[in-house]
Amino acid sequence: MICCTKCFNDIQIKSVIKSIGNREEHCPLCRRTDVYIYDTVTNKDLENLFEDLLEIYSQGTEENGHITTTLTQELTDTWEIFDLEKEQVYKLLKEICPSLYAEKPSLFSNTIIVSEYSDVEYMEKNSIMRCNDWDEFVKEITEEIRYHTDLLNKESFSQILRLLEFPLPNDRKVYYRARIVNNLYYRPEDIGAPPKEKASDGRANSKGIPCLYLASDEETASKEIRAGLHDKLSIGEFTPNRQLKIIDLMDIDKISPFGISNPQFLYVNKRHLKRIGKELSKTLRSNSSSLEYLPTQYISDFIKSLGYDGIKYKSTLNPKGYNLAIFDVESFDVCDVKNYTIDSINTNLKIERD
Ligand SMILES: [Zn+2]
Repeated sequence: MICCTKCFNDIQIKSVIKSIGNREEHCPLCRRTDVYIYDTVTNKDLENLFEDLLEIYSQGTEENGHITTTLTQELTDTWEIFDLEKEQVYKLLKEICPSLYAEKPSLFSNTIIVSEYSDVEYMEKNSIMRCNDWDEFVKEITEEIRYHTDLLNKESFSQILRLLEFPLPNDRKVYYRARIVNNLYYRPEDIGAPPKEKASDGRANSKGIPCLYLASDEETASKEIRAGLHDKLSIGEFTPNRQLKIIDLMDIDKISPFGISNPQFLYVNKRHLKRIGKELSKTLRSNSSSLEYLPTQYISDFIKSLGYDGIKYKSTLNPKGYNLAIFDVESFDVCDVKNYTIDSINTNLKIERD
C-alpha cells in the first residue's frame, strides 16, 4: 500500500518518509499532490516506530476503571498522527505493521486499554496533575492554596517541558511590541516592559513582576493590544542580546509519541496537555479578573523557576502569529520605534506608516 507525507500530521513520521526520498506527483491514498511517498511493501522504516507505540496498548474492556478505545480512534483522535479517514487508517496500519497484525489481529479491531491509566501508583508518580483533573487544580490555586499546592506534579511536568525546549538564537531576528498612543509617541527607552511598580497581571506574569511580551510580527503586536481603526500606534522593534532558552507551548498538545522512550507517560498526560494548550490560547480581555490569569501564571512561573528564559505561545487574536513572554526583560534591546496609524479594519489589518 502506498501512502505519503501528507497522509500524516505527525512531524516525526513526515520526516522519516521524506528522508527516504521518493518524491511523487500524486498520493493514491489521500490524493494530495507533490508528495514524498512510502510503500509499505518495500519500505520498513515506520514498522518499528509504530510497533513501539502500539506496545502501550493491550486488548481490554471497560472493567476496573479502564478507558476503552480502539486503535484507529487512538491514532487519529488522541495522537492526531494521521490526516486520513479512520477506515483508511485501519487499512494502512495493517500494512505498515504486518507482523504485529499477524500476531495480534484483535489489537487492531477490538477495544483496547492502556493499563497504566488505571494503575493508581503509576498515575500518582507520572500524571502531571496529581488529582488527574485540571479543573480541580485550578479550583485549588484560585480558592484554597495558591502558592504551595501539591497538585501539580513538578517532576513529571519538568519532563514534559524538556520535550518543548528550544533555543532562541542571538541573531538579528526582530520581535515587536505595540502600544496605542494619543499624541506623543513612545521613545525607544519607554517602549519596553513596564517597571515593576506598573507591571499589571498578564498571561505569564503576576502583578508587580515585569515580563516583556513580544509578538512575531507587527500585525500580531497590534492585534494583541486590540488596536482599532484610526488608532495611532508606536511599535517597538526588539532583538535578543543573548541566546535564550525558551519553552514552546504552541504545540504542547502535539508532542510526537515517536522518538520518546516512554509513550505511555505522554499518553497519561495527553488530556492535561490538551487542556493546558486550550487555556493558554484562551482570549482574555484587558479587564479580566486577575484570578482568570492564575492558571497560566502558575505554569509560567514554574517554567521560570526552572531557569528558562521565556515561553512561546499562540496568538489568539492573530492565528498566523505567535507571542513570546520573556522573563528577563533586559535580554532584548530596542533597535527602533516606528509610528503608525491604522487606516483600515478588516482581517488583514493594514498599518500605514505615520
Ligand atoms: Zn497521502
